[in-house]
Amino acid sequence: MIVMAQTSIKPSRHNLYNTHIIPVSFEYFAPANLQEALELLDKYGADAKILAGGTDLLVKMKMRVVEPKYVINIKKLKELAYIKEEGNVVRIGALTKWRQLEKSDIIKKYFPALYDAVLVMAGTQIRNMATIGGNLCNASPAADSAPPLMVYEAKVVLASKDGEREVPITEFFTGPGRTVMKPNELLKEIVIPKPEEGTGSAFIKVTRTAMDLAKISAATALKVEDGKIKLVRIAIGSAAPTPVRCRKTEEALTGKPFTPELIRETVKMVQDEISPIDDVRSTAFYRKEVSKVIVEDALMISHERVIKGWFK
Ligand SMILES: Cc1cc2nc3c(=O)[nH]c(=O)nc-3n(C[C@H](O)[C@H](O)[C@H](O)COP(=O)(O)OP(=O)(O)OC[C@H]3O[C@@H](n4cnc5c(N)ncnc54)[C@H](O)[C@@H]3O)c2cc1C
Repeated sequence: MIVMAQTSIKPSRHNLYNTHIIPVSFEYFAPANLQEALELLDKYGADAKILAGGTDLLVKMKMRVVEPKYVINIKKLKELAYIKEEGNVVRIGALTKWRQLEKSDIIKKYFPALYDAVLVMAGTQIRNMATIGGNLCNASPAADSAPPLMVYEAKVVLASKDGEREVPITEFFTGPGRTVMKPNELLKEIVIPKPEEGTGSAFIKVTRTAMDLAKISAATALKVEDGKIKLVRIAIGSAAPTPVRCRKTEEALTGKPFTPELIRETVKMVQDEISPIDDVRSTAFYRKEVSKVIVEDALMISHERVIKGWFK
């Protein structure tokens, strides 16, 4: 195994081995408040990286996948760590740690699919450091928070020195590691509408081992009224360059009488709405085959959670 421990070694492509050191020099800032952070981003944005929990960023810096000239540590911005109810929405600050989500009665009560995701995201040590904002901004197709937030039709609030803008989560990701964020923008908060009464939701993740990133994952939300499907949303992770909503399958289900047979037959369509690849975690073939199974299961669990009541 190659271990790169000398800063003089400069690979032409990124080093596939974790060096366990950060082999590049950078200037470090720890702003005391949001305003200071936004000013630093405005000045250094294109050459800077925000550091939140560091559980993605520091690994990438050790592997030289990213080599920022400036690192802006936002850990002191306690004003960005919150979960609060406000009328019909719940607001989650970008710096909220996964462990805070796990302990939140608000998340548990309104967003079962997100709560499912929290329980299978890494282990306690990582959940104690990692933030939900970092998970989204890292923009991995396997990000566990993305499919649940997509079925809840969440929005993200992006802040810069010039002001704020809201972007639907379904429009936030543009490719692996890429988002619509401008270099001078910071993810400030996530706004999730509370689901309509009678809506059930669930998230299922298939992994190689416990605590691994998803081979494939799916979140669903479902509302059945008078025996008919009134609302259905399906999102899949790790099966395309970005997490995706399966809108054609949703359309085919909407308005139909809810039966297990209809669900089993119709979810076959999700295979055509994803474009998985072979990689270290799985194969495109496996991902296509399993996508329909986990979507079916997640829809049935979503339904059951309304009938039997939800609480883990
Ligand atoms: C052992 C291990 C297991 C893991 N398991 C999982 C798993 O099961 N599921 C999963 O989804 N992920 C997993 N991860 C990945 C990682 O922990 C998560 O993606 C985590 O939520 C990242 O959050 P962070 O605060 O550590 O982000 P950081 O590493 O600090 O940042 C990640 C990226 O987002 C940017 N960024 C962070 N916050 C902001 C912001 N507010 N505004 C703008 N840009 C920002 C950073 O510049 C960086 O590019 C794992 C990581 C490790 C090391």
